[in-house]
Amino acid sequence: GRVIEVKGLTKRYGGVLAVSDLSFTVRPGHVTGFLGPNGAGKSTTLRMILGLNRPTAGSATVHGVPFPAHRAGLRHVGALLDAGDAHPGRSAAAHLTALARSNALPRRRVDEVLHEVGLAGAARRRVGGFSLGMRQRLGIASALLGDPPVLLFDEPVNGLDPEGVRWVRGLFRRLAAEGRTVLVSSHLMSEMENTADRLVVIGRGELIADESLAEFAARG
Ligand code: ADP
Ligand code: ADP
Repeated sequence: GRVIEVKGLTKRYGGVLAVSDLSFTVRPGHVTGFLGPNGAGKSTTLRMILGLNRPTAGSATVHGVPFPAHRAGLRHVGALLDAGDAHPGRSAAAHLTALARSNALPRRRVDEVLHEVGLAGAARRRVGGFSLGMRQRLGIASALLGDPPVLLFDEPVNGLDPEGVRWVRGLFRRLAAEGRTVLVSSHLMSEMENTADRLVVIGRGELIADESLAEFAARG
């Protein structure tokens, strides 16, 4: 049951130790929250799990192997990393269609995920005119496109309105209930309370806690 395994993971940017000897595992069937203040090293860790950043030391594996994003593709791991990564001049549908094509995914998945994230009515609009919440929904659609067993979401709630927050929580719970492995980062404990059942907490690149939400809350 260890889908994501991080061992002694370390990343140095010049003089900055962004991630320091971090070890934790993420299991299927749960929503695991990845909590820490801004600058704690969450995005850097997620990027190393995805193979987008090379660790200075240590390793991050998915299903036992390092995950090079360019080879494994969206069928294996879906991720929302940066709400701003779609080309502003493209429509939402065109963005997803290009992603589907480059990952050899069926074209029908585009309409399915647009519907699933509530963007069916905005499919032909340019992403440049989208609100942050709509761009987050599009990023979530990209993560879902390949129907992957492992999903990483970096600060997914940013820019969502309260209805969107409720929706995304329900989505994460449903993905976990389907047996998928879901890792969700946030800098706010309040966001984790109705979302995650386990917490990996980091500060200044180091592990602070790795336990159930109830255990973490009980310690204060
Ligand atoms: P978080 O996602 O928790 O906000 P990050 O992983 O983005 O944290 O950043 C961790 C630390 O690494 C911060 O001090 C940040 O300034 C630094 N950092 C992140 N990316 C880079 C980069 N490409 N070059 C230099 N420093 C970086
Ligand atoms: P139903 O239970 O009626 O099949 P679902 O929401 O489970 O409804 O599935 C509807 C469509 O959405 C299906 O094509 C399915 O492949 C897709 N789908 C469901 N869950 C996910 C998911 N987590 N990621 C990607 N696609 C999904």
